[in-house]
Amino acid sequence: MSDKPECFIDEAGLRLDGRRVDEIRPMKVEMGVLSRADGSCYLEWGNNKVLAAVYGPRELHPRRMQKPNEVLVRYKYNMASFSVEDRIRPGPSRRSTEISKVSGEAFEPVVMTQYYPGAVIDVFAEVLQADAGTRTAAINAATLALADAGIPMKGLVSACAVGKVDGQLVLDLNKPEDNYGQADLPVAMTQDGEITLLQMDGHLTPEELEEGLEMIKKGCQQILEIQRQALVSRYGNEDEEGEDAEAEISEEVPDSEEGEEEEEERDDSFDNEESEAENADENDVTKEDEGEEDERQ
Ligand code: ADP
Repeated sequence: MSDKPECFIDEAGLRLDGRRVDEIRPMKVEMGVLSRADGSCYLEWGNNKVLAAVYGPRELHPRRMQKPNEVLVRYKYNMASFSVEDRIRPGPSRRSTEISKVSGEAFEPVVMTQYYPGAVIDVFAEVLQADAGTRTAAINAATLALADAGIPMKGLVSACAVGKVDGQLVLDLNKPEDNYGQADLPVAMTQDGEITLLQMDGHLTPEELEEGLEMIKKGCQQILEIQRQALVSRYGNEDEEGEDAEAEISEEVPDSEEGEEEEEERDDSFDNEESEAENADENDVTKEDEGEEDERQ
């Protein structure tokens, strides 16, 4: 670990990496990077590199874990052994178990769980390179991987942290600020501003907490814009994509008058999501058969 810097903010108000106190690190995202996952996203944020993959929805085994009226969203956060300076022991730790739990819960208000009763959606967040803020980076990638998998959601989730160094609030902590700062407040929120994750390390006064949340809100709005751009660049050509998706479905599903009527009634903007969701339903049937076969063996 590097030594504690003498000061974190210089006289010009700039941080060690040249950012202003309310500035987030540069973020780059790419969706659909894994062909075998149902949805995926690779995200770089400063020096963080994170890969998120989504599998499902599919039938959950063992069946006793199934939720009768909704889908179970399972979230697994993992830091690769090579992601930090000193090698991390592979496998789950108390830290990764905690982050997995709270991050999965951060998606509960947005995933429309009622659509897939008894099923499971697995979200894997793999940190390839860690440089502070990995849980928030993973959430930002996971929400795009969920969208890429066609999981119906009420909106996107964006996440960002605020902290305190030299007695001053700073947005999106870098590694020295995270290591030696006086506070770290990672938050995830929906695009409507509903907070879905809030953790705090260190000390903030009530006034600082309020101001910090305002800074996070602005940071999350910028991240949401980057996430939206990523969705547009992958699915931007809506007409063409929509037609392709419908063509694929009509090859797989036998014609039924009812089905055709439903197709026509659909809102264009949801074509891709619903098409993929229907595909997932079909996959469920296959998985169900497979599952039952497994149990019989
Ligand atoms: P976050 O990455 O969400 O900010 P923490 O505040 O727990 O989570 O960790 C801050 C940073 O400390 C991480 O991004 C990573 O760079 C480093 N770190 C965390 N856990 C370990 C570990 N077990 N070994 C080495 N470095 C770690």
